[in-house]
Formats: sequence, C-alpha cells, structure tokens
Amino acid sequence: MVSFEEARSIILDNVQTVGTEQIHLLEATGRVLAGDVAAPWDMPLWDNSAMDGYAVRTVDCPAIPCRLRVSGFLPAGAKADGITVEPGCAVRIMTGAPIPDGCDAVIPVEETDDGQQEVTVLEPVKQGQHIRFRAEDVASGVVFVRRGTLIRPPEVNMLAGFGLALVPVHRQPVVAILSTGDELVELGRTPGPGEIINSNTLSLAAAVREAGCIPRIIGIARDNRESHLEKLREGLKADVLITSAGVSAGDCDLVRDILEELGAKQVFWKVAVKPGGPTAFAMYGCVPVFSLPGNPVSTMITFEEFVRPALLRMQGHQRVLRPLFKVVLREALKKKPGKVQIVRLRLEKEGGRWYATSAGNQQTAILKTMVDAQAIAVLPAGSTHFRAGDEVDVHFYGNHIEME
Ligand code: AMP
Ligand code: MG
Repeated sequence: MVSFEEARSIILDNVQTVGTEQIHLLEATGRVLAGDVAAPWDMPLWDNSAMDGYAVRTVDCPAIPCRLRVSGFLPAGAKADGITVEPGCAVRIMTGAPIPDGCDAVIPVEETDDGQQEVTVLEPVKQGQHIRFRAEDVASGVVFVRRGTLIRPPEVNMLAGFGLALVPVHRQPVVAILSTGDELVELGRTPGPGEIINSNTLSLAAAVREAGCIPRIIGIARDNRESHLEKLREGLKADVLITSAGVSAGDCDLVRDILEELGAKQVFWKVAVKPGGPTAFAMYGCVPVFSLPGNPVSTMITFEEFVRPALLRMQGHQRVLRPLFKVVLREALKKKPGKVQIVRLRLEKEGGRWYATSAGNQQTAILKTMVDAQAIAVLPAGSTHFRAGDEVDVHFYGNHIEME
C-alpha cells in the first residue's frame, strides 16, 4: 500500500514524454508546444497608429485649439514611403497604418473637428500618444511561447501573426481502454438480469479525450484467463493502457496476475485513498498501465487524480495538476484516519469567498453526486474531523455554472 502522494509521484516519475510532430496551426488547439518559439521579426514591424485620426508633429500643436493643413491620407495597408509631413501639416491616418516619418503623435478623430482639408485640434497632444511602437509587443528573437505551453486561441493568434503555419507539438498518446467483467454488456444492448451496461469505457474515453489523448477502445475482457490474455495483449500495444474493474481481491479479479504473466512489472497495488483503494500501476516497457477499480465513481476519481496528470505529463504539459484553492465548509465532515478521502462538493460564492457543501451521497456507486459535483476536496490522510467554518483545499471538477 502506498500513500496518495507517493502513488502520484511514482506515476509521474515513471511516465515519459512522447515524441513530437509538426502540425498545422489550425489543428493545434489543445496540443502542447514541443519547443520554444522565438519571434522571427519585430511585432509590430513598424510604428503604427492605434486610432483613426491624424498623425502630427507635437511641435505643431503647442496649444489648443490649433489648426493644421491635411497633407495626406494613410489607410490601413498603405505604405508611408514618400509621405512627408511639412511643418503645420497633419496626415489623416487609419488604425494600423504606418506612422509617417517625422510624426510623433496621433490625434483621435474624436478630438478634432474631423476636417478634410484643414483640421482643428481640440484637445492637448502628448508626444507618443496613440502610437503602437515597433517591437513594443515582442522584439525579434525573443521567445514568446515556451515548450510545454498549452496552445489556446491566444497562442494561435500570436503564432499566426508571425506567419508560423506549422508548429512543433507533442504527439497525442493513444490510450487503450479495457473494461473487465462478466456482468457487462455494450452500450446499445438492453441489459438482462444481472447485467449492466459497460458505461466505464465510454466515460474513460471521454476523460481521455478531455485530457488531449486518443482513446482506443479494446472492449470487454470476460472474467476468464483466455479473454484477459487476449484483450490485455491488445491493450498493451497502445501508448498507455487503462483497465477498469477486476483489480480488487475478489475471485474473478484477474487483471494484475495476467498483466504480470504478459510481462508487465507491477509498481504498486493499493493506495491509501477512498475511493480508489484497489488502484494498481504497472509498467510494460515504457507503457504505463493503470488498473482502476470498477465502481464508476472510483474509476472516474482515480482517472482524475492519477491518470490525467500522467497523460498531461506524457504530452509535455508544464502544469499537470489542477490548481488548488481554499473553500470554507458549510457543514461538518468526518473521515477515518490513515487514508486520503476524496469528497464531491458543491460550491457557492458569497462575499468574495467560496463555500462548499457536500454534493450528496458519497458512496462509490452513486453516480448522480459525481454529475452534481463542482469541486473535489482531497482531505489529508491524517485528519479525521472538519467543522463547519473550517477551510479545505479543493480543485474544480465538472460543471461550474450558476456559481456567480
Ligand atoms: P469489480 O471491481 O469487478 O468488483 O467491480 C466493481 C463494481 O463496478 C461492480 O458493481 C461492477 O458491476 C461495476 N463495474 C465494473 N465494471 C464496470 C463498467 N465497465 N461499467 C460500469 N460499471 C462497472
Ligand atoms: Mg468484476
């Protein structure tokens, strides 16, 4: 038996970052950059106007109101070459157009009489106002996104702005998903007496996708040696294998033994955590194998706390754990000593603080509480009693709607 914290660090120490590939920026959202990216040129590439208005020399506007002759027009996309500004003149300029030589300020059209031939300036002018200066955003050669960064719309915008159509990212690990049990029938069949639908496979596939990886569904291994051998062998061809159920100490719990027979090395079995106690972790060469307990809530929670960080690490993410924040308990919570307890909570924000109540029945067969939960608390092994008003650490989980 290992502690919750040991289990996590053992897993993270064992998994390796997968290889890289170049992909088109259009496909890159949700992927992780595999290398630092430096600016190939200054951004912006030239001083340009931040407003629609008039480019001027501040020396020509010593006091207001002042009148200037309009000597040129620069729409966005125009070149400033050849446009000069004589003393006492202004150039009508649109947002994004280059600042003509000699000008050191832009006056927004709203601060003028909007004149076409001549313009009257109505507000004081400061040197440098409303100019976006060359390299103000990023200078050429500066690394603007580091390896390990999750690519989101802002990163896409910047990479595209620098003309980078292809980006280096980590490959998406293929994650095999295998459910075990004689009681299971596949989705689409009506369960007969004693049967239940194999919902864990679907839920794990969803979680694998959410974590940025590609699920490969292996199906169901029946509670006999031959079926386990066949299906586990198939699952071990992927980058990662996740199994559900058959990992406790029951008569039909074959997963660990057959994995061992196939050459996987067990790294730990049993974690001091509730739910999720029977979780096992093995390595088959460099393929991590997570054997999760079969109760759907246990499966989801152990995925969240143990598998998800590993999948993120494999994809090269810098941050693999969800950030924790403090909430105030609205009600008392009790737990047994010696094990971490994972509790499903609902949240409310009041007076700038987060408050938490239990999301409902915390048994591992109760799925609805998992659907209703907005946060998960990981209560430390050493603690036993929490009173209303105590603070605990939580991370977001599930839908956070209607919290504001
Ligand atoms: P086991 O670990 O085999 O003892 O299973 C624990 C509980 O989880 C039992 O009630 C199973 O019926 C249930 N269970 C096992 N596998 C699945 C699955 N793939 N989908 C939904 N429930 C499951
Ligand atoms: Mg079973």
